[in-house]
Amino acid sequence: MKKILQDLSFSELENLILSLGEKKFRAKQLYDGLMLGKKISDINVSKELRTRLLDEYEDEPVKIIKTLTSSDGTEKYLFSLADGNVIEGVFMQYSYGNTQCVSTQVGCRMGCKFCASTLGGLVRNLSSGEILCEVLAVNALHGGTASKRAVTNIVLMGSGEPLDNYDEVIKFLKNVSAEGGINISPRNISLSTCGIVPKIYDLADEGLPVNLTISLHSPDDEGRARTMPIAKKYSVAEILKACGYYFEKTGRRYIFEYSLIAGENCEKEHAEKLIKLLKGKPCHVNLIRLNEVEERNLKTVTDKQAYQFLGMLEKGGLSATIRRSMGNDIGGACGQLRAGYIKGENI
Ligand code: SAH
Repeated sequence: MKKILQDLSFSELENLILSLGEKKFRAKQLYDGLMLGKKISDINVSKELRTRLLDEYEDEPVKIIKTLTSSDGTEKYLFSLADGNVIEGVFMQYSYGNTQCVSTQVGCRMGCKFCASTLGGLVRNLSSGEILCEVLAVNALHGGTASKRAVTNIVLMGSGEPLDNYDEVIKFLKNVSAEGGINISPRNISLSTCGIVPKIYDLADEGLPVNLTISLHSPDDEGRARTMPIAKKYSVAEILKACGYYFEKTGRRYIFEYSLIAGENCEKEHAEKLIKLLKGKPCHVNLIRLNEVEERNLKTVTDKQAYQFLGMLEKGGLSATIRRSMGNDIGGACGQLRAGYIKGENI
């Protein structure tokens, strides 16, 4: 695989251009073109420079090969990468803006029992430029530019565990929020993790105030360990301590994702434990009805059960909501679309 030009920050691109004996302003022309989601071969610089770059760099590192549109307007994409791997992404339109859900790895090695992303294990990490290209491609698809963005918010909630690909994810966060680039503020970006505790501390120290989201899914270590192998490594108590540190450093309230699985984590005893655990903390609980995945033997809850659980949390003084489920008719849950593609389903 060739190198990826979108891995470079603007100043790194400037250095590259100068090292090729080109004038500095060529870097700005190239960068502006890349931020519009253009291929190198479509950017208006000299043919000689384009040819030299194309010898070493991928022309289009991330290509949208399929778009599915849901009845609620949500779009789901399959992207192909230069090495033939595929990843997926989602674009959701809200009243306050448009949120893109990006993947950070091809597959995932965390092994959560409810999740389709992890079915074939981890294939490889994405580079910062590949993650950025997911955003640039979707922004361009919707007619956005760098100054008038079609993608206003980003969630790192696609396939992969962002904190298991820490360095590239941090570089992506810096480049996607760089002034002069597509410039999406860290405050409009949410990073979701299954709870890799040491990396939460590292993230807090980066000075990038992204919204931190933790996939909790159970109030205690035993319950978490039944569906999330990472729970055997880091305890709920350690996660909460790290979240406290994150709040101290960034001033950002943190969010817990809690997928409701029938007979597993949404009885009265679970609500009581959650209340005891989280009451008074600067956090919010996002309840999600499990998206059933064919290969996994876990069942979702009814709307009624979800609202009952929400009611118990609210009564106990927690800030909580049920996350509106979007794009259910087009393979809603993480990794479902890619898993279907790999199985050769006609999608
Ligand atoms: N690895 C990160 C990013 C994935 S984000 C993390 O674990 O947070 C996707 C969110 O959806 C996570 O909270 C994940 O636990 C949850 N999820 C995955 N599969 C799901 C499913 N089938 N139904 C409901 N939620 C699911």
